Amino acid sequence: MAPVAELQQLTEIEDRSWWDEALCATGGAGLAALFFSEELQDIAAAKRICAECPVMVTCLEGALDRREPWGVWGGQLFLNGRILASKRRRGRPPKVARIEDELPEIPIPEHLRSA
Ligand code: SF4
Repeated sequence: MAPVAELQQLTEIEDRSWWDEALCATGGAGLAALFFSEELQDIAAAKRICAECPVMVTCLEGALDRREPWGVWGGQLFLNGRILASKRRRGRPPKVARIEDELPEIPIPEHLRSA
């Protein structure tokens, strides 16, 4: 399910008043696909959008509470309800690091670090 549609379904079970300010809600399906992509450059692009999003902390709190199974939420990459610190491209690592494979590091707010 696309993140926009998934997030909109959540309006009935939690306070979603912050959703109006969500940057990922403004770009349509093409933008939404970045947030659930397996491609490192897409994940990096999604994280960069989150870094500019005014509701990033609220979004991350909700994603942790819901134990999101996957995707980029609140500037972090999730898998099975947990934040992944890093992700590698499939296959053998390149001899020379690719700049496009580097994911932006977005600090996790202190009150959420143990989650
Ligand atoms: S932090 Fe990222 S995933 Fe969350 S609402 Fe903002 S842009 Fe969307």
